[in-house]
Amino acid sequence: MTLQAAPFTSKEIARIQKALRNQSRFWRPKREALNLAREKVQVGVTRKGLPKTRFEYRCLMGCGFRSFDPKGLQVDHIWEVGPIAKKAVGVLVTSKKPLPLFRVDWGAYIQALLCPLGRLRAICRPCHATKTAYYAKGQEIPDEHYL
Ligand SMILES: [Zn+2]
Repeated sequence: MTLQAAPFTSKEIARIQKALRNQSRFWRPKREALNLAREKVQVGVTRKGLPKTRFEYRCLMGCGFRSFDPKGLQVDHIWEVGPIAKKAVGVLVTSKKPLPLFRVDWGAYIQALLCPLGRLRAICRPCHATKTAYYAKGQEIPDEHYL
């Protein structure tokens, strides 16, 4: 006998998914991915004549985006997390309308979301949006985008 979670409604799935995505910002490899995109650059000279430096964050898609603000970058899942795997298993009868119930593969979803550093990279928002749009169309982002 395998241990199975109770089935969920679409609304419950969406809420849990949102909470998992939200908490994934504390995933250590995500912070490490952001650190891999930063480089110390000289921005001037101190009064003592020493180099004044700051961290600059660069998009790892190679578009040329640079920012001193780490919020300019987002951590991309190189292998898209994708939609959650769910299977309809019945209906919940309520006083309003019947709600479909689903069994969800939370393990697969969490593994895709909280993946190792090697499958994460920090990229700028426009590159992330472009990549996600290609993914939504079922296409790979073309090579010329990286040039
Ligand atoms: Zn970019």
